[in-house]
Amino acid sequence: TKKKLIAGNWKMNGSLAANEALLKALLAGVGAPGCEVAVCVPAPYLAQVQSLVAGSPIALGAQDLSAQAQGAFTGEQSAAMLKDFGVRYAIVGHSERRQYHGETDEAVAAKTAIALANGITPIVCVGETLAEREAGRTEEVVKRQLAAVIHVNGHCISEIVVAYEPVWAIGTGKTATPAQAQAVHAVLRAQLHHAASEHAAGIRILYGGSMNAANAAELLAEADIDGGLIGGASLKAPDFLQIIAAAR
Ligand code: 13P
Repeated sequence: TKKKLIAGNWKMNGSLAANEALLKALLAGVGAPGCEVAVCVPAPYLAQVQSLVAGSPIALGAQDLSAQAQGAFTGEQSAAMLKDFGVRYAIVGHSERRQYHGETDEAVAAKTAIALANGITPIVCVGETLAEREAGRTEEVVKRQLAAVIHVNGHCISEIVVAYEPVWAIGTGKTATPAQAQAVHAVLRAQLHHAASEHAAGIRILYGGSMNAANAAELLAEADIDGGLIGGASLKAPDFLQIIAAAR
């Protein structure tokens, strides 16, 4: 049976000194975790974090990647470059990328494809805004976002990780209730089942949005919540370690 995945998304936070302190504390406390663990770090720190986590149960992740293989794309990082640093996971389609960098469903699908082609597991983010939820459009929005990824990637989607991150829960301290999250995860699971039949049960669907040490256990107890994508709480070692301990 699949292990849960607890992935930290550091977003645009950290420094050489802060990263080292955080990782040393995580490595000291993580032991032999009952789940998979990853940290998705800012690109300039990939080399530093690669060497700090080498040989440990903590996997390295990136926060984005280019949809292009190489060439004149100033400011972008290719999948092959990420592989050079031992990157195992890349977040794609985070709502902050969609909101502030105009990432479309099609771009997210293309990034998913190039990650898969390079042996990087994409963590594909979907989620509705508050206005969309209040308009009763949650299901329609997350299904549209996931459908674009399925359309381009076909049966290869058995290799992805999905993250449901309601935009209104990100960085707000307002977590979806376990029931609210489970309801959307069940919709996504059904959609994956339709696309990948027998593989759908093995695809991890993470919850993200103000997940923390206090609420992780009850969220992770839901049938279709297979882990977490954690922002703020992943920057504090004791909190991140408690979330990891809750994921068994
Ligand atoms: P917070 O945990 O800070 O709400 O962020 C969630 C998130 O966006 C993870 O990708």
